[in-house]
Amino acid sequence: NRRFVLAQRPQGMPTNQDIRLEEAPVPQPAAGELLLRTLYLSLDPYMRGRMDDVESYTPPLAIGDVLGAGTVCRVEKSEHADYKAGDLVLAYTGWQDFALSNGEGLQKLDPNMQHPSYALGLLGMPGFTGYMGLTDIGNPQAGETVVVAAASGAVGSVVGQVAKLRGAKVVGIAGGADKCRYVTETLKFDACIDHKAPDFAEQLKKACDKGIDVYFENVGGAVFDAVLPLLNTKARVPVCGVISQYNGANSAFEQDRLPLLMGTILKKRLRVQGFIISQDYNDHYPEFFKQMSQWLAEGKIQFREDIVDGLENSVEAFQGLLSGKNFGKVIVKVAE
Ligand code: NDP
Repeated sequence: NRRFVLAQRPQGMPTNQDIRLEEAPVPQPAAGELLLRTLYLSLDPYMRGRMDDVESYTPPLAIGDVLGAGTVCRVEKSEHADYKAGDLVLAYTGWQDFALSNGEGLQKLDPNMQHPSYALGLLGMPGFTGYMGLTDIGNPQAGETVVVAAASGAVGSVVGQVAKLRGAKVVGIAGGADKCRYVTETLKFDACIDHKAPDFAEQLKKACDKGIDVYFENVGGAVFDAVLPLLNTKARVPVCGVISQYNGANSAFEQDRLPLLMGTILKKRLRVQGFIISQDYNDHYPEFFKQMSQWLAEGKIQFREDIVDGLENSVEAFQGLLSGKNFGKVIVKVAE
């Protein structure tokens, strides 16, 4: 059983020294347990926060812990009355080939599901995040302007497409020409601006000629600096993530912009609200799942995955996710 453990706490970008690959015997299920084999492993930005020894909405990893992650698994052996070998389940077994479970927290998946990995993306945590943050906090109205960064990614792509379905004008922000082309041509956003362009702020202003009514925050940093002066009175800002800060200090920390931020919140009467999907919206999952499955079947939603082959490549894939090298939802394919 190959598994990745936290060997030491990263300083900045996590490395192979921080996240170490170990070998251990494959565990055997006792009565009431099942042995799960990982087929797909989800890599998500929140995992970076769990590596730091700081208080958050969940306790941090301890040194030596297997890294946590949502997974799609096949039941290999079952000593549990509700499961049989071959069942497909959504689990939280982490960065490893095999794990034991007592059935708690498992969700059975339809064995005929066309895209089992979508349970980790469009129809799972990231899709749910984009949907709830946008509809509940952003609440865009037809004709309003919605802006979302990391627009080609797991959360951002859902935010923009749902906003379009609601009749809003949607401007994406993404890193590089290929991602921007995908966002306008495939996801059908009205515009997409490359945040690496030297005149990014200028281009964003032009694209948002009536200002911004909803800014769905995924990245923070320099992107937020360009967005702040464009926010309209009574704009809503669902704060979902600030990925540009996850590896610690960078150029965005050099200047204290807190007075500017607080002053703008007051004068523009902004509504800025953070949310954590796993803490705030569990009751809404069935409603989301039904709606998103329907849109998917009707061809109204596109979803791109960035599939990485082999558990051994997880650290590199995670580094890529934190530096914008991924193009779509990052999924590690661990076994057939
Ligand atoms: P993505 O698939 O969007 O991948 C991350 C993307 O972030 C990268 O591709 C890159 O896109 C962008 N990025 C990375 N570093 C920077 C940077 N320094 N500055 C600007 N952009 C950067 O990831 P997810 O969709 O899974 O996650 C998006 C956000 O949502 C994250 O902040 C995550 O933490 C948050 N989240 C929050 C949840 C909650 O409950 N609050 C739940 C799930 C996710 P590009 O190349 O286009 O810049």
